[in-house]
Amino acid sequence: MDKYKLLELMINTANSSDVTKLRLRDWNKIIRWEIEGESFYWSTSKEKFNFTEATEADFIISCTEDTLDKIAHKQLPFFMAIWGTGDIVFKGSFGDAIRLGYIFLNDKRKRKVIFISHCWLNINTRFPGGAAFPGADTMIIRTLLDSDVGIIQMPCPEYNCLGLEKYDYGKIDGEQLRNCYRRTANDVADQIKEYKKLGYDIVGILGMNPSPSCGVEITKGKGTMLGTSTDTSEDSNSGVFIDELKLLLKENKIYNVRIFGVRRHLTGENGNEARIEKLKNYLGK
Ligand code: SF4
Repeated sequence: MDKYKLLELMINTANSSDVTKLRLRDWNKIIRWEIEGESFYWSTSKEKFNFTEATEADFIISCTEDTLDKIAHKQLPFFMAIWGTGDIVFKGSFGDAIRLGYIFLNDKRKRKVIFISHCWLNINTRFPGGAAFPGADTMIIRTLLDSDVGIIQMPCPEYNCLGLEKYDYGKIDGEQLRNCYRRTANDVADQIKEYKKLGYDIVGILGMNPSPSCGVEITKGKGTMLGTSTDTSEDSNSGVFIDELKLLLKENKIYNVRIFGVRRHLTGENGNEARIEKLKNYLGK
């Protein structure tokens, strides 16, 4: 394959991906390729690559025809040729090199993520007696690891607003507590927006039933935490953090992110298999 055909293959591969459109948005550049004494020009207007006439370039990519062949045929990741092996000499801003690295992405990531309540991974933030595992809920985490999703650990709202061992429980007025939870939820909503903007597959948000903060279908003690009641029975409702997160997603016009809960496991309780099955069902959909 000659040099032009190899560059054309790269353009066609990139332009055939919907994600390329997202990555080229508002990024109008002229790129000059220097391949063994010959120059070729690309433009990135209208959210796709095109060959263009010789003109002043924003940056220059130099390599041998052999390197170009390997990149075009996905035997060498574009960014690794700059950053790792040095097979490409990139004359321009590093931000542009990284942008192209993502456009010509060639690695194992599946671009699929799940947001999970903090204590699935770090059980130390749980209430006294709430840890049936030494460090993480290994059954839940192994199930997630086996499903090839990237795991995003949300901050623990109770840690953020009440302290590690929740010494401020009952000391903060309900409205103030909600505001603090809202600020914590806002960081998560911002992350969700960013992942969505770049077309990542968000499997969902995994809360923890029946937490008064992170419960999704069931809560327990929400009123106790907010100072509005002393009832600690289980209720078919979501926790305060999940309430605020739902509101923020709606305000940001993000409607299609699933929020689901799995029950925490306590020492001596049965039903471990059932909750893992429930999680697998969510992951399979
Ligand atoms: S607030 Fe949420 S993350 Fe923190 S311990 Fe409770 S359920 Fe876990």
